[in-house]
Amino acid sequence: MIKSCYIHIPFCDNICSYCDFCKLFYNEKIVDNYLLHLEKEIKNIYKNDLLDTIYIGGGTPSSLNLKQLDKLFNILSILRKSDNIEYTIECNFDNISIEKLKLFKKYGINRLSFGLESTIKNNLDVLDRKISKTNVKKVIKECRTLGFNNINIDLIYAIPNETIKDLENDLDFVLSLNVEHISTYSLIIEEHTKLFINNVKYISEELDYKMYKLICDKLSNYNHYEISNFAKNGYYSRHNMCYWRNNNYYGFGLGASSYILNRRINNTRSITKYLADKYILDYEKLNKSDIISYEMILGLRLIEGINKKSFLKKYNKDIYKLFNIKKLINDGLLIDNGTNIYIPLDKVYISNEILINFIKE
Ligand code: SF4
Repeated sequence: MIKSCYIHIPFCDNICSYCDFCKLFYNEKIVDNYLLHLEKEIKNIYKNDLLDTIYIGGGTPSSLNLKQLDKLFNILSILRKSDNIEYTIECNFDNISIEKLKLFKKYGINRLSFGLESTIKNNLDVLDRKISKTNVKKVIKECRTLGFNNINIDLIYAIPNETIKDLENDLDFVLSLNVEHISTYSLIIEEHTKLFINNVKYISEELDYKMYKLICDKLSNYNHYEISNFAKNGYYSRHNMCYWRNNNYYGFGLGASSYILNRRINNTRSITKYLADKYILDYEKLNKSDIISYEMILGLRLIEGINKKSFLKKYNKDIYKLFNIKKLINDGLLIDNGTNIYIPLDKVYISNEILINFIKE
């Protein structure tokens, strides 16, 4: 039984310099057409599972106009939703409106995720983004008035020429919004992005580490529950927990990925192919050891790590017999507290180096 579903809306009003996501410039006709094919894909693949989480991401879903959003929610009405579903949509402060928020409310959206990224002029110039703090505060107020009580803000740090003071200001601003969830990402300069083409360089590792430390300190009133994620009590992202717990999920739309019956399926990133209903690009069939490798790499991203009993129940194998956990514990890179195995907080920053030990050769 699959309990989570991701829907990709790949349209944006503006293309950011660092963006490696599957996205296209908004075009009204293409969006209308895209929605028709998204509907076909869902009807073709969805098997009537009762869903606990739905996540509409992008791109920028809030770039769609009201009529298109209405159409999207009508398409998604065929998905069966549990009584306590977590139903998220990603939004941009620039193209959200009170009318769109009301529509979200009408269709049962109960979690909003906003890409803020930064409020500092230099950072925004580097990222090719715009933000008005006054507008952000106004939008958050409107969300609260309409009864949205689960809001996430995304923040990017380690931007070229960013200072510790800049990051402190960004964090203070985000904290002043008093949202339930904050995601923070160190800037990655991916190939084929404008930043990469312009040969933009990373900040020093030392400064990156100082920034990560600052984030952990400043957000200490939130639960630091995953490498990059912080939440108030009861507001962990249930949808992302599905990924980190290595559970199955549907992914619909251009460039989306699914994990169904031991298959990791990738959709095409070509809009031409997608609009011809050739949505699947490729898939990887996983054997048991692949699945266990994913379980470790994803699960150890969580600060609470992997529960040994659950692991044994799921795979009927002793985790110690599969991996050289003892050595990692002796090296101070993992802790076993009796019930869970996890990366110590002071080593979370170098978690990638630790996770390498669980990649299958
Ligand atoms: S808004 Fe998001 S998806 Fe769109 S270009 Fe910027 S980073 Fe990429």
